[in-house]
Amino acid sequence: MRPREDRVSIIDTTLRDGEQAAGVAFSREEKVRIARMLDAAGVDEIEAGIPAMGGDEAEAVRSITALGLRARVTGWNRAVLADIDASVACGVDAVALALPVSERQIESKLGKCREWVLRQLRESVGYAKRRGLYVSVGAEDASRAEPAFLLDFARAAEEAGADRLRFCDTVGVLDPFGVFEAVSRLTAVLHIPVAAHTHDDFGMATANALAAARAGATFLDVTVNGIGERAGNAALEEVVMGLRHVLRRETGVLPEKLAGVSRFVTGVTHQAMPPWKAIVGSNAFRHEAGIHADGVIKNPESYEPFPPESVGASRRIVLGKHSGRNSVIHVFQEMGVAITMDEAKSLVALLRDDRPHGDRPTGTPSLLEMLDCLRHRKSVA
Ligand code: MN
Repeated sequence: MRPREDRVSIIDTTLRDGEQAAGVAFSREEKVRIARMLDAAGVDEIEAGIPAMGGDEAEAVRSITALGLRARVTGWNRAVLADIDASVACGVDAVALALPVSERQIESKLGKCREWVLRQLRESVGYAKRRGLYVSVGAEDASRAEPAFLLDFARAAEEAGADRLRFCDTVGVLDPFGVFEAVSRLTAVLHIPVAAHTHDDFGMATANALAAARAGATFLDVTVNGIGERAGNAALEEVVMGLRHVLRRETGVLPEKLAGVSRFVTGVTHQAMPPWKAIVGSNAFRHEAGIHADGVIKNPESYEPFPPESVGASRRIVLGKHSGRNSVIHVFQEMGVAITMDEAKSLVALLRDDRPHGDRPTGTPSLLEMLDCLRHRKSVA
């Protein structure tokens, strides 16, 4: 077992796996903009697309390699020499070479056998290395592969000169314990770094990425907002913040840049972000419930795992049926209006009253009337 490396490198595949999400297609300008933002945010590697697709896809990859980014730029390939040529023509620094390792995929998808897989592996890795590329070998569907064959495959990749092995939970079927075991078996014998590619089919992509890091993976695949095939991938913002605050591990990513990248990608995918989405959802730092809001007003740490400013967001106390008196006073204070405890009490009663206004005792002001009346004091004061 190698000594544990503290820093985890982030491979962003928003432009490849992310774009494979149903209904998502980026223009070349959008891809270039996303690549620049990811680079500025400190991502270590950008999987820019699939050069073998040719046309606009190859053009976009070429535009990104031409930027001269600090991040390594990778093209995704089948383990086929023509694909590697297409990547080289786009000027990439690195190639990801994907080969299936589960029987399901080797036989039913490709109609091939394990020997064919190992042959393709040796041939394509050797070819890419001779062309001066950094080579990441992707073990596709590794989570459903026979462990002994996965190990043979990984060793063969290393012997052939690969620079890294990518463990893919292609259909997102492992839990963090399963990922930990499977990745540990690889990091125990390999000398090259291991990367993990995790999918969110059961909502465990981020947990699985963190489990892989615990098992010695030093590279993690992510996409902005977790977009990607089916239920998506591990999200950049979740993995970076989870590593920092849950595992106490650092990456090169600047957390304060996360909100901006997320917003841009949400905009160009034309798909709504759920308010409760971790780190970047609009509710991620909003507090309504009385006890929580009161705790946060006294000390944000009581109900926040980290300060919102650290990810470019801000905290808000919002009023609703779960609000308590302190929240009401606080919200008015922020508007520059001082209200009394009694006024706060009647506001809370109104917030909790779910009867239509007409059904309330005569003389009860509506919530809006009361808010208006209190807000009016600001100009008086
Ligand atoms: Mn994938």
